[in-house]
Amino acid sequence: MNELQATSLRAHEDFISVGVTKLCQAYISSSCKFDVVSNNISETFNGYILKARSKPIINMLEDIRRMLMARMQSKRELMLKSNDTICPTIRKKLEKNKKERKDCHVTPAGNMIFEVQSFDKSNVVNLVNRICSCRCWDINGIPCKHAISCILWLKEELEHYVHDYYKKDTYLKT
Ligand SMILES: [Zn+2]
Repeated sequence: MNELQATSLRAHEDFISVGVTKLCQAYISSSCKFDVVSNNISETFNGYILKARSKPIINMLEDIRRMLMARMQSKRELMLKSNDTICPTIRKKLEKNKKERKDCHVTPAGNMIFEVQSFDKSNVVNLVNRICSCRCWDINGIPCKHAISCILWLKEELEHYVHDYYKKDTYLKT
């Protein structure tokens, strides 16, 4: 905070006025399993209904209903064809984290708890509680590079440790 204040007094004041609990990873809730908080979804939806929103209300709602029905059906078909147990975007994120684990060194501490060293940093991973001290796994439900290092050290399947929200079965139920 002192460094921020020295760099920009205005930025420091804005940061304080918004509140530390809304801006620091340490305070982000882990219940949603989502690490990006923005209004992108409303902007995307606004663009999605661009043609429909100029119509009278009933016609607009009917257009939106039809568009969403077609979208849900095409997504359902894609997921039914998939042989993976997790959703495609989550698979990409998991593979990205897997590639980034190369600098991680695992030390087991027993009871499925590990210390993972990466360059000059050290994190604690608890595979039973599915948490890592970097907080990425807790917040987004996808094992971080530290957790992946431990899971692969145990020769276990990564998919087992991805949150159920991202499983194919959950998607199809939704
Ligand atoms: Zn981590």
